[in-house]
Amino acid sequence: MTNAIEIRDLHKHFGKNEVLRGIDCTVETGQVVCVIGPSGSGKSTLLRCVNLLEEPTRGKVLVEGVEVTDPDVDIDAVRRRIGMVFQQFNLFPHMTALQNVMIAQQRVLKRGKKEAEQIARTNLERVGIGDKAGSYPAQLSGGQQQRVAIARALAMGPDLMLFDEPTSALDPELVGDVLAVMRKLAEEGMTMLVVTHEMGFAREVADRVVFMDGGVIVEDGSPDQVIGDPQQERTRTFLKRVL
Ligand code: ADP
Ligand code: MG
Repeated sequence: MTNAIEIRDLHKHFGKNEVLRGIDCTVETGQVVCVIGPSGSGKSTLLRCVNLLEEPTRGKVLVEGVEVTDPDVDIDAVRRRIGMVFQQFNLFPHMTALQNVMIAQQRVLKRGKKEAEQIARTNLERVGIGDKAGSYPAQLSGGQQQRVAIARALAMGPDLMLFDEPTSALDPELVGDVLAVMRKLAEEGMTMLVVTHEMGFAREVADRVVFMDGGVIVEDGSPDQVIGDPQQERTRTFLKRVL
């Protein structure tokens, strides 16, 4: 079976700054892989290379067998299969939750208004905020706004989801609602690559945990291995600070 994501010897330089220094990582279809590591270790850059928001300096990235690093690739077609959720929700402030979830469906997928609205409502229900369809972002809590952003990504019908610290901007009491939605998605079989500092989530939900430091993968294994019984000093030092 084709892997959802295959990353081979990925390098990314920003000028002289070598941010990714040879990353090899595979995410199988249906797997949840959590990426952990200190600030500046290259986690966001890695995620952004998967859908070519950053262009790799060297190496290969394949999404569902399609090489996104091939200059002839139809990157828009690949991006349509990938949902992305960021730390900042990036909702349109002048649009309701419903409209925020409809707009890309209409503009990008050319869905009609009726169909887009129906799919939007279904996905707002799916993330537990069906009753907030008519609310504007400013009327919603951070956790609710992030769930709108997740619904917006899901409404596009992605095969896989990338999450970049989706709960880092939230007040602590709102983190659980967003993690619960992500856990449900994982249970439904969604393929997910998740950068997170939520060790409880990683431990319970991830099939694999990848620890990055200094642009390389230091450890890659089951949550019990990497979080429960880390082999490298760098991993142990990091975990001591976040656990
Ligand atoms: P993390 O997500 O693990 O905190 P990042 O991938 O955001 O790490 O950043 C890794 C390094 O790459 C940092 O030193 C950061 O300053 C640098 N970096 C990230 N994006 C850019 C960019 N667009 N231009 C220049 N440097 C960048
Ligand atoms: Mg980051």
